[in-house]
Amino acid sequence: MDKIKVLKIVLCVSLAFLVTALLVFAVVTAVSSKDDNSRKEGKTSEKQEDIKTADNPEKENAKTDDKDKKDEVENPKKDDNDDIKAGDPTEKPEEPDNNEITITPAVPDIIVTPITPDNKDNVVTPVVPDNKDDIVTPIVPDDNDITTTPVVPPDSVEITVTPVIPEVTNVPTEPLKPDDKDKDIPISEIEGVESENGGILYRSPHGNGKLVCIDPGHQTKGNYKEEPVAPGSSETKPKVSSGTSGVSTKLPEYKLNLTVSMQLKDELLSRGYDVVMTRIINDVDITNIERAMVANNNNADVFIRVHANSDDRSSTKGILTISPTSSNRYVSGIYNECYLLSQCVLNCMENSTGSTGGIIWKTDTMSGINWSEVPVTIVEMGYMSNPDEDRKLSDPDYQKKLVKGMADGIDDFFVKKQ
Ligand SMILES: [Zn+2]
Repeated sequence: MDKIKVLKIVLCVSLAFLVTALLVFAVVTAVSSKDDNSRKEGKTSEKQEDIKTADNPEKENAKTDDKDKKDEVENPKKDDNDDIKAGDPTEKPEEPDNNEITITPAVPDIIVTPITPDNKDNVVTPVVPDNKDDIVTPIVPDDNDITTTPVVPPDSVEITVTPVIPEVTNVPTEPLKPDDKDKDIPISEIEGVESENGGILYRSPHGNGKLVCIDPGHQTKGNYKEEPVAPGSSETKPKVSSGTSGVSTKLPEYKLNLTVSMQLKDELLSRGYDVVMTRIINDVDITNIERAMVANNNNADVFIRVHANSDDRSSTKGILTISPTSSNRYVSGIYNECYLLSQCVLNCMENSTGSTGGIIWKTDTMSGINWSEVPVTIVEMGYMSNPDEDRKLSDPDYQKKLVKGMADGIDDFFVKKQ
């Protein structure tokens, strides 16, 4: 039994020794092989490096090219857009190589180049549409100003202009504007301006768009040189006579005509008519043709010539208007309107004055009618050769009635003409 015990112990010990020996061996082998591997790996990577650098000459060239490119990029100011594009970060240079590292930072620097004008434009443009929209939408929907606004955007400072635009929209119709300042002053104080087409022009503060030419007949001194009675006619008449005078009042006709005409001017202005006067003083020298030309050249809608009458018989009285005949070849195109105007004025004057027995005289002997290209009438307000009527004509109250009648007649003419 002891022997067996001893044998077992010996066996155990030797086994333990064996195992230990095996373990030690295994560890040693493992360590030594690891060292070996790491040494081997180092060698292969060196080899790979060698291969990389050695057998890729194209790449070397490419690198130098890159270098050149970058040099260009570094001096973009010299050239234009193209260079800036080359400098664009999106066109990324090749993979960073040790040598180039100093150059790469140049790329972000290119962002500084916005200083160049082209870049500036690029930056500005996105702002423009915004501005435009801001200006157009809120303010004028359909004004001409829209055409103006596109000019504005380039300078954002122009935004200050916008407050002006609403006022522009409020501007009243053209004819009214010049007379706005006259609205607060009495009609009789509205000043006339010399028309470039002849005569003295008065703008109504309540303009209805119609222009009446008033010709106060005669002047201080008649001009007895002759002029053709009609365009192209060989028949002649004195250029302008001095007219008649009051049998009772001794008032010269040219003065009466002007006095009443100036009142008619004011009445027409107050009714919305613009007025052009052939004269506003007595001491002038305007022929009958020239007076017709004032009406023609100003494109008057109506030409009314203001006179007073005279007759050998002192009993003759009443209002008379003069129209061309229907066969007048000089005014054939406007005959109907001339006659209508003569009719309207006579009727309305008789209504306003209470005068009766008036007539329309059709004649083609009046040069001021024959030369007229616009509807025309001559108003003989009454007979200065009739003592009673002469005094009436100088009476301010009667003059108001005369004026009202003439203005009513013109109103009536435009109503009936349509
Ligand atoms: Zn006369």
